[in-house]
Amino acid sequence: PESVPRRADVRLPPDTTRDEFDIAIAALKRDIGDDNVVLNNQPLVDGWYLEHPNTHDAFHVVDQEDLVCSAVAYPGSTGEVQVVVRWANKYAIPIYPISMGRNVGYGGTAPRVPGSIVVDLGKRMNKILNIDAENASCVVEPGVSYFALYEEVQRRKLPLWIDTPDLGGGSVLGNAIDRGVGYTPMGDHFACHCGMEIVLPNGEILRTGMGAMPGKNGADNPTWQSFQPAYGPYSDGIFSQSNFGIVCQMGFWLMHETGHQSYMITFPSEEDFPDIVEAIRPLAQKRILGNIPQLRHVVQELNVTGLPKSHWYAGSSPIPRDIIQKHAAQLPCGDCSWVFYGTQYGDETSIETQLDIIRSAFANIPGSRFFLPSDLPDDHYIHSRALVCSGVPILRELDWLNWKPNAAHLFFSPITPTRGADAKIVHDINIRLHKKYGFDLFPTLCVAGREMHYITNIIYDRSSNDEKRRVAGLMRELIAETAREGYGEYRTHVLFADQVAGTYNWNNNALMRFNETIKDALDPNGILAPGRNGIWPKNYRGKGWEL
Ligand code: ADP
Repeated sequence: PESVPRRADVRLPPDTTRDEFDIAIAALKRDIGDDNVVLNNQPLVDGWYLEHPNTHDAFHVVDQEDLVCSAVAYPGSTGEVQVVVRWANKYAIPIYPISMGRNVGYGGTAPRVPGSIVVDLGKRMNKILNIDAENASCVVEPGVSYFALYEEVQRRKLPLWIDTPDLGGGSVLGNAIDRGVGYTPMGDHFACHCGMEIVLPNGEILRTGMGAMPGKNGADNPTWQSFQPAYGPYSDGIFSQSNFGIVCQMGFWLMHETGHQSYMITFPSEEDFPDIVEAIRPLAQKRILGNIPQLRHVVQELNVTGLPKSHWYAGSSPIPRDIIQKHAAQLPCGDCSWVFYGTQYGDETSIETQLDIIRSAFANIPGSRFFLPSDLPDDHYIHSRALVCSGVPILRELDWLNWKPNAAHLFFSPITPTRGADAKIVHDINIRLHKKYGFDLFPTLCVAGREMHYITNIIYDRSSNDEKRRVAGLMRELIAETAREGYGEYRTHVLFADQVAGTYNWNNNALMRFNETIKDALDPNGILAPGRNGIWPKNYRGKGWEL
């Protein structure tokens, strides 16, 4: 989309006059360099995934100019991050740290409080600080993308894998902080991190885990990337999905390369869905399934071809079931309702044994069909799944955005037990509400042994105010209805953070009161990412900021 003239000049931070702002910005430029502070006063450009803006949410759900920063700061080191944090305290201006800002569908680079200063760590802090081949671990700065880490491992010819999410352009550190996931056996990114270096809201530097103990003669501790909890409370968790600190370095475990075999299983009937979940549960609990597999509704087979919706259906309403069926019948998956993508790991014989068990578990569902990549055409989506599931970053998932003109997307991602009955409750709510608000329903279930992420990718036209209003209405009602049934979201777009946080309200909001206690202790001036994940510092609470 081309840029349109800005209606407003710089969006100032709350309770800040233009004069105060200009004085503060001049001071920041003196502190970290003229070129490293850039005002956000030019036309907003949504760009695309690889040329994404750090000025606003490129996938705007509200007016494009609503969720904007006043300026972007580019610190070049942990020391400069400390300088920025102290500056924010001095001038009482909120700052919003991002790593690379490719958190598409969850708010991108947009600060929750308009007029905040975005602290874009990725531009200058983009070093792979260490790859320890013996320990199978690495330490990265915020600006290291999955592509960069992957390429470095290849360049050094190490027999190691990284783990990438669906899109490989994001920050390894940023994704893990937001508790994103990937698809190798080490797909739980936060669970596979080991050690952090954090600048606290008062400007102090903290190292977590074994990093809290100095190494010999001032060296980093030799077990910083080896043992996660160290001694005392395990503090790392509170720095994920929060606004308690700015993470400047983070360690990650890497996987040893191994044999792998992806496969696809199709199931004929819509009603098979609870039975499929029941079949997956024991396979996952026994760890026969090597990674987190995906169960997708067949409509996604149309979408992942990369062809637009108009290719399949001329209407503007959601694609009717019979049309999906008619087209699916012409695709390699055939006339089916659900498609399962799995990958097994190990040597050839062990993979064969695993596949035998899996085939016989699903054979109980009449009409299920099993495919290997070699059974499917070269351009079939399974080949890109096979790459992601073996730690190779790709961009194919961008094809989602071909679905509609000016497409943007939001994720709705509740957690349910891995049980057919629960999955059906959430699925039925989604069917009903997507229909009510007029959107295609694209469910993908990431199924683990005890819980599943039921993820829907809601695609809307961001040039249409009507679609934006409807998509926000859909999100709000989905969050409320699933919460009434006891299902909560694991992650959400910044705009819905208050509502989602508010559903975790057991015992008179005990959890949020706990979070607020930590927030007020660490960040008494409330300068760091106010409102992120629904956590507001005391100077913002009760003033109408919550949405
Ligand atoms: P990615 O490029 O991986 O998609 P982002 O940089 O967009 O990730 O990060 C996702 C979110 O996580 C950001 O919006 C921000 O709120 C938070 N975040 C990212 N990096 C940091 C960091 N280094 N310290 C604190 N919070 C961060």
